[in-house]
Amino acid sequence: MPRLALLLIASTVLLAQAPSPRERRPERPAGPMSAVNLGTPDAPSRSEAARLMKEIAEHGRAYADLEELCDTIGPRLTGSEQYGRAAQWAVDKLKAYGAVNVRLEAWDFGKAWTRGVSRARLLNANGQALEVAQMAWTPATAGPIQGEVGLLEAKTLDELKTLMPALDGRIVVMGQLPSAREAKDRPAFMAEMMGLVRQAKFKAALLESDKKDHMLNMSGGPGGRNRAGNVPTAIITKEHAALLKRLVARGAKPVVELELSGKTSEAPVQAHNVVADFPGTDKAGEMVIIGGHLDSWDLGTGATDNGTGCVKAIEVLRAMKAAGLKPRRTLRVVLFAGEEQGLLGSRAYVKAHEAELDRIQAVLIDDLGSGKIHGWPQMGREDCVPSLAAAMAPANGIGCKDLPAITISGATDHWPFHQQGVPAFAALQEPLDYFTHTHHSQADTLDRVVKEDLVQGAQALGVTAWGLLNQAEKLPRRAMEKPAASTVQ
Ligand SMILES: [Zn+2]
Repeated sequence: MPRLALLLIASTVLLAQAPSPRERRPERPAGPMSAVNLGTPDAPSRSEAARLMKEIAEHGRAYADLEELCDTIGPRLTGSEQYGRAAQWAVDKLKAYGAVNVRLEAWDFGKAWTRGVSRARLLNANGQALEVAQMAWTPATAGPIQGEVGLLEAKTLDELKTLMPALDGRIVVMGQLPSAREAKDRPAFMAEMMGLVRQAKFKAALLESDKKDHMLNMSGGPGGRNRAGNVPTAIITKEHAALLKRLVARGAKPVVELELSGKTSEAPVQAHNVVADFPGTDKAGEMVIIGGHLDSWDLGTGATDNGTGCVKAIEVLRAMKAAGLKPRRTLRVVLFAGEEQGLLGSRAYVKAHEAELDRIQAVLIDDLGSGKIHGWPQMGREDCVPSLAAAMAPANGIGCKDLPAITISGATDHWPFHQQGVPAFAALQEPLDYFTHTHHSQADTLDRVVKEDLVQGAQALGVTAWGLLNQAEKLPRRAMEKPAASTVQ
């Protein structure tokens, strides 16, 4: 999930849904937030859903697959060699589990980026090594560089204008910029402010991490807009940014040595979505798409963002085959690339498959970490609520029972489908420590994944998909107005 999108939805989802980590969810009274009684699956569908859940509980492969993905391949930056290995891994896995038409679908990504060394230390004051990581897709330094630290912090545009010349040639800690809140013309205010910053001649920039506890969080992309302009840029931990700010405030003139050696490729590269089918029977021409994004950030191993979503989707296909179930519609698993750079893989998929969008019954995406799935957002699709409620009803007993009237805008790969009027939903999940710790940080590793939650998530995803695969009625399309595209930094 891209970083800014996450910030936008975090409050919505947390306020609407989330108990504190590992806390039991309280029962909600029936009402707009609860959909337990809105739809009822028929008896055969219930017993098949039960078989599916049993298969996942007793023979589930999701955790073992995730361990393989994280520990033998690891981080999967879009366009990287490791992403290529992961895509091939997923193809092999899906074939082994009985999927057909398993393929890589290429699309034009842009230039690839390879992480190198990220190193920084204070040359005066306490001489401490500083925790930094080069922001992806920003330029490298010419070997180790040295510079006095400057602090970019201003309350007004006038203050900013006065301050900027003093920051030329400095290694700049990006602090609080003037707020556009009071401005009469906010876009013009923002444009002027960013213009000022981007014209600056910083030697390098240090962006403070969003996370506490010495964690870093990555973002960026080819052609991405870095707040500091096109200069070597690193994310620095909150704690070490605070140290530098204190030294500047005290007039100690801190001097830092910084080395960032990540490289952008000479030529643009292609990225690949992984696509696999479990063909349906009498309605095989229609499909339910389930999936997540196979690409990840590279400070951790992409366990919760979004290895969990990928292995759950693979597991659902495996378990349906293994349980001997025969869906009416085709189940399609799609693992997208380029999600972290702006939902690029799902946008490319929607474009390439424009002619068949009308045959998609629904899209179910899982990309909110490792926690249990407790429901689906309505996404303004009240017309789909009874069907969705009926589909997930067999999973109500394992906690998948909410259909709140909220919309998750942008944020993950359901969005490009939703924008085209296809019923598309991103699973609502218990957050665990996703927002506070694992998302885009070095803590996104397998040890943060709760095995039982992975089983529950695959069951909830599988049961919901199973219902939608077999319902007699086709979910309605809707011509959506086109809201602004989601943005990523
Ligand atoms: Zn994600």
